[in-house]
Amino acid sequence: MFDINGNDNNTYNIDNIEFIKRTSPKVGELIEKEYLRQKNNVELIASENYCSEAVLAACGSCLSWKYAEGYPDVRTSGNTSRYYGGTEFVDILEEYACDAWRKVFDTDYHVNVQPHSGSQANFAGYKAILNPGDTILSLTLDNGGHLTHGSSVNFSGKLYNMVFYDVDERGYIDMNDVRQKAQEYKPKLIMTGASAYSRIIDFEAFAEIAKEVGAYFMVDMAHIAGLIAGGQHPSPFGLADIITTTTHKTLRGPRGGMIFCRPELAKKVDSAVFPYAQGGPLEHVIAGKAVCAEEAMQPEYKEYIKQVVKNCKALSDEFINLGYKVVTGGTDNHLILLDLSDEPFSGRVLQERCDKIGITLNKNCVPCEKRTPKETSGVRIGTAPMTTRGYKEDDFIKVVHRIDALIKELREEFK
Ligand code: PLP
Repeated sequence: MFDINGNDNNTYNIDNIEFIKRTSPKVGELIEKEYLRQKNNVELIASENYCSEAVLAACGSCLSWKYAEGYPDVRTSGNTSRYYGGTEFVDILEEYACDAWRKVFDTDYHVNVQPHSGSQANFAGYKAILNPGDTILSLTLDNGGHLTHGSSVNFSGKLYNMVFYDVDERGYIDMNDVRQKAQEYKPKLIMTGASAYSRIIDFEAFAEIAKEVGAYFMVDMAHIAGLIAGGQHPSPFGLADIITTTTHKTLRGPRGGMIFCRPELAKKVDSAVFPYAQGGPLEHVIAGKAVCAEEAMQPEYKEYIKQVVKNCKALSDEFINLGYKVVTGGTDNHLILLDLSDEPFSGRVLQERCDKIGITLNKNCVPCEKRTPKETSGVRIGTAPMTTRGYKEDDFIKVVHRIDALIKELREEFK
């Protein structure tokens, strides 16, 4: 993993690149270029992270060779319910991964570690409890939600009847609006979770509203799962019926998804993942997820995630000290949204200018967005990857000053 100066203390990537080059110089060269980009750039993308060499090695292991459609079920039925032979070791592995994740979140919920991605976890979560045309109350993309939370270009917006709650004038989720829309539309599902929301989500209040209107309650904790695991954000376990996540963001695991549910929904959730949405599980990635779970239970991980939040607060405070607008006026988690609505240039322009000096971040819509999704009036900045590399508050303050200098240049250019 890279340290603060971009040094890799382990040769895993370098050795593998040389190995790949022997078969495919082109692929090896491209991986090498990407490796150097990741090592030399300041990575501020809120949904990214650097996972450990152990996770990478599990994902690159012989488990990639194995087909294992179905589920282990060894402990519940005494028999595997896979559709292939030779699954005796992946059966143990998958059950081990499930147990480890239940320990991470201190829960007795059922867990399915097979979803290939966060989007597929959401697809399966909806399928488990809804029929096409059912109503979902959710947060829009503009206000911080994810594409799979009802965007018209996504399966969610096409298959289901989406209605949306808003954020208030400060940018906080408006719980009065959630209650009012829930009572008005009587959704079958109330959904929360976000890709670009910097405040604590009040899961208790959501659960109470869902109960009042007889709706299912689902949480997509993809961004904040690491904070929940590390005790830096309240947990949705015990409150939500279904909880989905990715494993590659703040959890610092392999690229993939997972889905948790109340035990009574287990059968429906499992059959929504396989055979409905997917075929063979990626047992190599499931091994990576199991290693990630073990890492997330270590005291070092808890320290790491605490530092992610402290760093983000320092970054946010510095932007505010310099006179910038940060959506909601700050942050409680691992990301901020810098509001560029009053600037003469867009989020895209700032993203591209940052790219030129090796700072990687992404343009993002802000609440009440006036520019197009391709331009946007904001950028999203996250502290999880650079905290993995050892950045502390002072390092992030230096990053703020570098971005501030770029913004000042752009103001002159766009005068
Ligand atoms: N849910 C949320 C809240 C996300 O932010 C994302 C991705 O950024 C996803 C789901 C989808 O994850 P994936 O890219 O693995 O499909």
